[in-house]
Amino acid sequence: AKREETIGLVDTAKEMIATAQKHLVQPWPTAGDIGAEARGGMVSGDGIYVTDSEGRRLIDGPAGMWCVNAGHRRKELADVLHEQAMALSYNSPWYTMNQPSVTLSQRLADYAPGDLDHVFYTTGGSSAVETALRFMQFANNVKGRPDKKMIISRQGGYHGSTYLSASLNGRPRDHDWMDSASEQVIKLSCPNPFRRPEGMSEQVFCDFLVAEFRTVIEKTGKERIGAFIAEPVMASGGVIIPPQGYLPRMRALCADNDILFIADEVVTAFGRLGHVFASQDVFGITPDMITFAKGVTSGYFPLGGVMISSRLFEDLRRSNHSDAMFAHGLTYSSHPIGCAVALKNLDILEDGLLDHARAISGYFQASLKTLEDLPLVGEVRGLGLMACIECVADRISNNPLTLDLTVGKRIDGHCQDLGLLVRPLINMCVMSPPLTITPSQIDEMVSILRTSIERTQDELVREGLW
Ligand code: PMP
Repeated sequence: AKREETIGLVDTAKEMIATAQKHLVQPWPTAGDIGAEARGGMVSGDGIYVTDSEGRRLIDGPAGMWCVNAGHRRKELADVLHEQAMALSYNSPWYTMNQPSVTLSQRLADYAPGDLDHVFYTTGGSSAVETALRFMQFANNVKGRPDKKMIISRQGGYHGSTYLSASLNGRPRDHDWMDSASEQVIKLSCPNPFRRPEGMSEQVFCDFLVAEFRTVIEKTGKERIGAFIAEPVMASGGVIIPPQGYLPRMRALCADNDILFIADEVVTAFGRLGHVFASQDVFGITPDMITFAKGVTSGYFPLGGVMISSRLFEDLRRSNHSDAMFAHGLTYSSHPIGCAVALKNLDILEDGLLDHARAISGYFQASLKTLEDLPLVGEVRGLGLMACIECVADRISNNPLTLDLTVGKRIDGHCQDLGLLVRPLINMCVMSPPLTITPSQIDEMVSILRTSIERTQDELVREGLW
């Protein structure tokens, strides 16, 4: 019976692949296989595990896309989704409002630092970043300084896939074949201590990064720069934790030059670093705006938003253009189901999950760090419940492996055979499991990673690539 069941599953999986290849376009395809590919059919989830269409149970190492913070198959979240859909499935966010979004706004304002007391809801992270940027542009138009609109982002950063948000991205391949509003963006160096110039201390590296920003401000003119945007920890750029003091110093430069500091907390908020928002609680900074998405609903419903400082609204109210309209809004802004799910998700975070995330993060980081004895591993780094294993060609030079080796993909392949999904990123594997993960599940994860990296090393040697 078991065999029949398995055969059935394989047939279903094959059918899923065949249909996907005919009709589904998955994100980030390449021209060679666009509209004809199929990656990883998934059918169910439970806690930190997902089951794929062939019946394999896998640890969900990246928690989907850094988002399933409360874990899969949470009945409370499913129930509230259903209940809200039955009570009020949708209302216009423009000429009406709903209780869940109002209650959620108050709770988020309580958590947000400083006077970030207002929320504009969106459908995800890209639309949150887009909203923050368009708000900056609008505010500067209203304040009579239409030239103050340049945006400063960083190499290695990721902020979204809408036109303006994507223009900020700075990872390899982000702009090779894509148009962007590059004339509106200046990119600073990536604050990656692992790749700092040889012989430079971390402190001097930090000084260099801050000086670089200061020079850009002087050269461009502060009257032309509207905002600086930064992920407190760069996520899809490879879990890059900036040098000590970097964020407060960049924040201070922004304040001194009347440049808005936008913290892109799409990944770092809602428990990933042990707090609802990380800007103040982890890094001691109060941004002018914070963008969030993903973990706000643990991925059970698409929702994002921007926390906005009261001061920015007061400036607008004092302006001479009280009739100027912020002509920006989404059909699904303040979605009642998304906001109801987010409220329940906040309950879960408050009810022990944040405490658990903070308590377990030390063990999570220390366990992954043990993998640094493997010759292929250049560095294991991380903070809270996000981590990255970076593979290198050799540990003396720390040179990156060539892209063609796609070593991350190879490791991911072996991991999947052994029951773990990791997120391959060129020569890196990124880990951000559901926050519910236990010590024994961490052990399981690390042991699979060790075997998979060893298998990859053997394979690279066998193929004469390493
Ligand atoms: N900002 C950051 C920091 C992100 O990691 C992402 C998504 N990976 C986004 C923005 C875009 O969010 P979304 O995919 O929900 O539009």
